[in-house]
Amino acid sequence: MMEVLKMGNGNKEEQKYIKKCKKCKSTLIYTEEDLFPDMEMDLCIKCPVCEEYLLIGLFPKKYKPEKHGIIKNKIGF
Ligand SMILES: [Zn+2]
Repeated sequence: MMEVLKMGNGNKEEQKYIKKCKKCKSTLIYTEEDLFPDMEMDLCIKCPVCEEYLLIGLFPKKYKPEKHGIIKNKIGF
């Protein structure tokens, strides 16, 4: 029987980031998978609410549930 001596963190939850949409004022939580380069190769995300493109910049803001609050109504986009 297999035993685990020390649990690895290979299934660690991926880092989430927070961004407020400048157009519709939605607060968005995104991961690196949601990022894509725009025409100038700057990373951006697309607001799922108003479909505005939002530039991330060099210093994405990390999402901290204890600081920003938890997602109450998860909407499946
Ligand atoms: Zn928006």
